[in-house]
Amino acid sequence: MSDISDITVEDTLVPGRECGECTACCQYLSIEAEELVKLPNVKCQHLKGGGGCSIYSSRPKICDQWYCAWHSMPQMSDEWRPDKMGVMLEFCRENFPDPFTGKAGYRFTILDKEKVATNRLLAAFVGSQILTGVPCIVSYIGEPGELPTPALLNFALAQAALDKNGQAILDGIIKALDASAEQPKQYLKIEDGKLISTKPN
Ligand code: SF4
Ligand code: SF4
Repeated sequence: MSDISDITVEDTLVPGRECGECTACCQYLSIEAEELVKLPNVKCQHLKGGGGCSIYSSRPKICDQWYCAWHSMPQMSDEWRPDKMGVMLEFCRENFPDPFTGKAGYRFTILDKEKVATNRLLAAFVGSQILTGVPCIVSYIGEPGELPTPALLNFALAQAALDKNGQAILDGIIKALDASAEQPKQYLKIEDGKLISTKPN
């Protein structure tokens, strides 16, 4: 096997793929870095009005190195840009239950439930991942500081994926989000330049 130690994040990116007006990661993700600490679901203070970073050349390393999965999946069309799709896709390794323990999977952060409810591209992708045993988790953006409450889709959508029933897959995603919304919420706050857990107000 050839040495991969000199491969950088940039080497994995689809050439020419640009964030454009999308600002999803700069709004919805939390950041805890020496240069910047940001709560989830709070716009970064450096985010410009029309998109883009006002400190681009000196942005934190974590921002420089982070890309959503759309940037490194050439099979995904421009429609998959998170702000257009209503979904931000990430590669993830979570503490998945059996039979997914130790597997890499996908995290779908739903930004816009209405767009998702009829999105056949999303249904086809989720269905194909479930059929090939790739763990898929879904969560919805929350209030400022709120941590996502992810739900595993694989068990709930197994039959819909087998049936290739796109609408049942989409309905199942929305149902999983609604069930997650009923779970106890967890929040973060910033204290002494760190993110710490806190109780809701
Ligand atoms: S979510 Fe993806 S496309 Fe959107 S701004 Fe972040 S990296 Fe760019
Ligand atoms: S510093 Fe720039 S790249 Fe990083 S989250 Fe803020 S706006 Fe986005």
